[in-house]
Amino acid sequence: MLDGTLISWPGGSPENTGLIVALIVGAYVLILWLSAVVWTARDISQRTREPIAQLVCTLIVLVFNFPGLAVYRVLRPPLTLQEAEEHELESSALRRELARSGECPNPRCGCLIGPDYLVCPSCGLALRRACAACDRVLDSDWAICPWCATVVPQSGGSASANGSGVPSPAATAPTAAPEAERGVPHG
Ligand SMILES: [Zn+2]
Ligand SMILES: [Zn+2]
Repeated sequence: MLDGTLISWPGGSPENTGLIVALIVGAYVLILWLSAVVWTARDISQRTREPIAQLVCTLIVLVFNFPGLAVYRVLRPPLTLQEAEEHELESSALRRELARSGECPNPRCGCLIGPDYLVCPSCGLALRRACAACDRVLDSDWAICPWCATVVPQSGGSASANGSGVPSPAATAPTAAPEAERGVPHG
């Protein structure tokens, strides 16, 4: 027979060869299995700080292996902690930006408005005026445009709700008054 003369079975016999092959395949599967478990343990620790959740997810993969890994990938938190932190930073920056502007004075609206809006985009309430000369946004109580020094025409009939209809002293004062004497009327 050729057995034992030309080819010798690794391990000495077909049974031992089968055992060696089974050991190699088993070690290969074991390495894949452990890799999946280690990968899961690392992955879940980046996604949650809850030790119980980390343990449960790792155990799912440890017990069920690749089907468990598929289940884990469906059930895991979609964002890592770092991604969630960045997301939180972005949204808080957005909230700060919105808080820097104001709210519409219309109590039934309350829409968030920017610092340079002329009208509320939601209810159409006039918030500010634009300078007739330079088109820049003026606050409602400004009498003179701070950028181009154009006198802002005061609209009379609009302020009926508050008592600002008192005649301002500037209206009767001579226009040639010295600069130091002239105060901007502030209501
Ligand atoms: Zn509004
Ligand atoms: Zn102006």
